[in-house]
Amino acid sequence: MEEKKIPYKTYLDESEIPTKWYNVRADMKNKPAPLLNPGTLQPMTAEELYPVFCEELVAQELNNTDAYIDIPEEIQTFYKMYRPSPLIRAYFLEKALDTPAKIYYKFEGNNTSGSHKLNSAIAQAYYAKKQGLKGVTTETGAGQWGTALSMACSYFGLDCKVYMVKVSYEQKPFRREVMRTYGASVTPSPSTSTAVGRKILEEHPGTTGSLGCAISEAVEVATTTEGYRYVLGSVLNQVLLHQSVIGLESKAALDKLGVKPDIIIGCAGGGSNLGGLIAPFMGQKLRGEADYRIIAVEPASCPSFTRGKFAYDFCDTGMVCPLAKMYTLGSGFIPSANHAGGLRYHGMSSTLSQLYHDGLMEATSVEQTSVFEAAEQFARVEGILPAPESSHAIRVAIDEALKCKETGKEKTILFGLTGTGYFDMVAYEKFNDGVMSDYIPTDEDLQKGFDGLPKFPGNV
Ligand SMILES: *Cc1c(COP(=O)(O)O)cnc(C)c1O
Repeated sequence: MEEKKIPYKTYLDESEIPTKWYNVRADMKNKPAPLLNPGTLQPMTAEELYPVFCEELVAQELNNTDAYIDIPEEIQTFYKMYRPSPLIRAYFLEKALDTPAKIYYKFEGNNTSGSHKLNSAIAQAYYAKKQGLKGVTTETGAGQWGTALSMACSYFGLDCKVYMVKVSYEQKPFRREVMRTYGASVTPSPSTSTAVGRKILEEHPGTTGSLGCAISEAVEVATTTEGYRYVLGSVLNQVLLHQSVIGLESKAALDKLGVKPDIIIGCAGGGSNLGGLIAPFMGQKLRGEADYRIIAVEPASCPSFTRGKFAYDFCDTGMVCPLAKMYTLGSGFIPSANHAGGLRYHGMSSTLSQLYHDGLMEATSVEQTSVFEAAEQFARVEGILPAPESSHAIRVAIDEALKCKETGKEKTILFGLTGTGYFDMVAYEKFNDGVMSDYIPTDEDLQKGFDGLPKFPGNV
């Protein structure tokens, strides 16, 4: 039978951009565990979260029942600037691999932030503005989230204070300048401008920082400055909710083409792009309407899913945030210094952690040199220069396609291409010069992180 010709790129019409986010928690039998107050070990109430997060976002965070949540019109309008994003058939990659597999990717890098993070940044900035706040604080590692949030804040006229992991601040001066161009102030973390930053610097002089440190600083500033709240670019339920636009658009485009993926692959740092990409597919799976193989890909140097513990842990190094139940390496875990590819957060979204725990998705880890090999192979045939984070998904998509070649099975693969890698050329340079190395933490390395997990009955 002649196969229907699938176009290289499938764009939805502007009018087909989703008008509601999909909340996968509504369809989960086992809901993600609630955030706990670290003092009382009781679930955080909305009132307890209000000093940290905007009220509407707190409601979304705690909402485990509504499957669909309206996207406010102002956010829909902003989405039109850079959405719908294309669903691309990787014909050139398929040819290069000589595989019978059919590979599709959803490309989220077509905006100045260079990643999917803008999908949630604009939502979070909107709710802050609606609440009459002056500004927001946040952390950023590689810089994509800080950039996305700066763009969103400048659009709504909000102040934006970014705490940037010191090593990235120094290695990625151009990222910093993009954020400043959009009006954000950028402080290297840990800094002496916060109590928690001073404490961390005292305990670890010369530290180059971590996401966990930067979160502690940003939360402290938000909770001690009038008219400010804290916003986070991944991990939280609300962020996965906003990112569901990725999956909803992907599914709508695939439905138009009459294509059903067998395997869905995404990289996982805190879990937001993967949670968003798989949302509607996981919903079908949870409701028993369809089945998919879903694979989370993480770095072997920061293996939260594959080697972490499913336990309550602090979300930050300074232990000022609520406790979240997740697959975690411990809030004190910092990936080895040679780790170049992003995805360095110690924990994982509670929603994805529960789904993984319940056997509804798989996880695998890959070493960074093999990730950059996949990145180069992809760039050379598909044209797009992928972000190192996204390239984790490319690695496994290629591996699965090669398995299809071996077995002669024509599987359909969908993966998330979360962003572009223009600001990651130092890492590419290391790879091109042949000086990139792999470091896989030993069990002893990981034990140090686990030793720091909060100890209470039923936890560890
Ligand atoms: C932040 C980021 C990721 C990882 O974050 P998730 O919350 O796990 O999606 C992946 N890719 C890119 C390009 C990013 O900027």
